[in-house]
Amino acid sequence: MAGQSVLAVPIGSTEQHGPHLPLGTDSEVAAALADRLAAARPDVLVAPPLPYGSAGEHAAFPGTLSIGSAALELVLVELVRSADAFAGVVLVSGHGGNAAPLAAAVATLQAEGRTVLGWTPRIPGGDAHAGRTETSLLLALAPETVRLDAAEPGDSRPLAAVIGDLRRHGVAAVSPNGVLGDPTGATAEEGERLLDTLAADLVAAVKAWRT
Ligand SMILES: [Zn+2]
Repeated sequence: MAGQSVLAVPIGSTEQHGPHLPLGTDSEVAAALADRLAAARPDVLVAPPLPYGSAGEHAAFPGTLSIGSAALELVLVELVRSADAFAGVVLVSGHGGNAAPLAAAVATLQAEGRTVLGWTPRIPGGDAHAGRTETSLLLALAPETVRLDAAEPGDSRPLAAVIGDLRRHGVAAVSPNGVLGDPTGATAEEGERLLDTLAADLVAAVKAWRT
C-alpha cells in the first residue's frame, strides 16, 4: 500500500501562545490539517506529528521547547529519507518559524531526487501569534484547552512592522504577554471557516504537486 500512498507529516512546535492558548497550538493545527487532507484524498496517510520545531524567538517564555533550525532541518531530511517506501511526503507545518529550515530540507531532498512538498498555512489578514486567528482555530479544534478568561491583547502592529525586532530580540521584547495580535472576538465558527479555507489550500497544493 505504501508504494502508492503519500505520507503527510504534521510539523508542529512547543511554544508559548500567550496566557490563554496551549503550548501545542501549532502541532494541533498541523495535525488537524493533515487529517483533513487525508479525508479529502484516499491516497494520503498521516504520520504522528513532530511536536518540536524551531521556536527560539519564544525562548524567554516558560513552556517553550525548541530544537532550533539546524536540528529541525536535519530531522526533516532524515525523516523524509526514511519514508522512501511512499510515493511522496508532504510536510504540513503549523509554525511560521519552521519555514526556513523546512524550505532548506525540501531543497536538499528534492536535489536527492525525492518527491516532497513543504506546506505552511497562510491566512490573509490573520494576526501573527496567539491572536484572533489562532484562538479561533483552537476554539474550533480543542475548546477545552483555551482559557478565554485569560485572553488579552498583545502587540497588534502588523508582522512586517515588528519582524526586525522579533528576529533580533525575540517575541518578549515586542510583546510582554507573548501575544502578537488580539484574541478579542475569536469564535469557534470563525475557526471552522479558517480550517476549511486552510484545508482547501492544502488539498489544492497537494493536487497540483501530484499532477
Ligand atoms: Zn502558533
